[in-house]
Amino acid sequence: MSDIATGRTPERLTVFPAFHKVAGRPVVVIGGDDEALAKVRLLGETEARIVVIASEVEAEVEEAVSRLGGEVRHRAATAADLDGAALVFVALEDDDEAAAAVAMARAAGVPVNAVDRPELCDFIVPALVNRAPIAVAISSTGTGPVLARHIRARIEAMLPTQLGALARLADQFRATTARVLTSSDEKRRFWARFFSGAVADRVYAGRLDEARAEAARLLNGGSNEPGFVWLVGAGPGAVDLLTLRAQRLLQEADVIVHDRLVPDAVVAMGRRDAERISVGKAKGCHSATQAEINDLLVSLAGAGRRVVRLKAGDPLVFGRAGEEMAALKAAGIAFEVVPGITAAVAAAASIGLPLTLRGVASSLVFATGHDRDGETLPGWAGVVLAGATVAVYMGRSVAAKVAARLIEAGLAGTTPVVAVENASRDDEVAYAGSLADLSALTDAARETAPVLIVIGEAVGHADLSAARPLVRARRVVAA
Ligand code: SAH
Repeated sequence: MSDIATGRTPERLTVFPAFHKVAGRPVVVIGGDDEALAKVRLLGETEARIVVIASEVEAEVEEAVSRLGGEVRHRAATAADLDGAALVFVALEDDDEAAAAVAMARAAGVPVNAVDRPELCDFIVPALVNRAPIAVAISSTGTGPVLARHIRARIEAMLPTQLGALARLADQFRATTARVLTSSDEKRRFWARFFSGAVADRVYAGRLDEARAEAARLLNGGSNEPGFVWLVGAGPGAVDLLTLRAQRLLQEADVIVHDRLVPDAVVAMGRRDAERISVGKAKGCHSATQAEINDLLVSLAGAGRRVVRLKAGDPLVFGRAGEEMAALKAAGIAFEVVPGITAAVAAAASIGLPLTLRGVASSLVFATGHDRDGETLPGWAGVVLAGATVAVYMGRSVAAKVAARLIEAGLAGTTPVVAVENASRDDEVAYAGSLADLSALTDAARETAPVLIVIGEAVGHADLSAARPLVRARRVVAA
């Protein structure tokens, strides 16, 4: 057998993955210590009837079994105990006792797993992601349980917690669907929309009644499903700083409309067949005006598409989401905002900067170096004087003016300042100095990279050991 694409013989598994039916059937755990407890807990994810058998049973095991509606037999296991059992777990420390219990299970014809004794196991236990009735089982076939758990964590993050509810709802619609939809094409289209469209959205939002109504509408030829826009925060750039909700919506969107600041890796997380539209928004090269973007969102959603409007950081922080929401509202298009990690917070995290600090900084201001008129207007000078930390967005090219205005307003030139370029990304750089040095930022930082400036006494408490000086130390020329 060889792989058609590569001509290589694929590696074969030593196990065959399958799911045992255990609902209502006894599953026996022989042993009463913490290994037994782990198995009891795992079995608690299923509808198995848990039976723990051991002369000595720890209190925690007793408690777990009784909570799960199982039974504890305080004695050594006998062959009769295994009668009709679906599976047996042997959690015994003593080698001989374990081997004897395994032999007993085999004699009774019940598949057995012996904890930490792979050579005695008929089956192995996978890492489980439970979204009943959906189950994902992961196994490294004993070679790397830590890796298996790591993979499980990633899958956990990928699958919405309400996925099971969606599967159950689908089940309720299966018979009717088979009757109403005749062609296989129609069926495929229906289920594709069911699992990624408005029905799934409602289920994931916990609105089951609405989901059911939506599914019924879809089934009754409601192909004119209205469009929707999600204004989604993509975070500062690191892919794993995206929220789980943003990740899910990216998977569901028909169209992704994104700014230039959103890294390709995030945009790439969308569905493979989703349309991607870049609307520029790089400073100095506005490839689409805000009015054009508003119109684009309205027309896409108006045509029934499900649109993710992906913005760097948080959409409501200097993201012009206000204008987009107003345009959508005016056009009667439904939308939702999904928050993201804003640049100030990401930059602070990178350098351990306490944005608020008892006795030092009691408020935090999100400010901009640019406003509508393109000028710097540090109207916020007063709050910095009063002990706020100020995060300045879009401040690189106007750094000198910002500094001059703040100093003019009475702020000390020695006030600590840090500028973080490409916060959270691989190529992050921090520049540290004082307010009097800030003008040097315009030359120090790269023109195309986003930079966030933080001004205030709290900056002095950050870890700036890896930061570059804003002003390169002047070389002392010997006389
Ligand atoms: N909505 C965004 C801000 C958009 S305005 C947010 O919440 O973060 C664009 C400005 O954001 C940039 O000029 C820069 O000041 C800041 N910015 C965005 N991403 C950044 C990053 N990864 N590192 C540093 N600054 C960033």
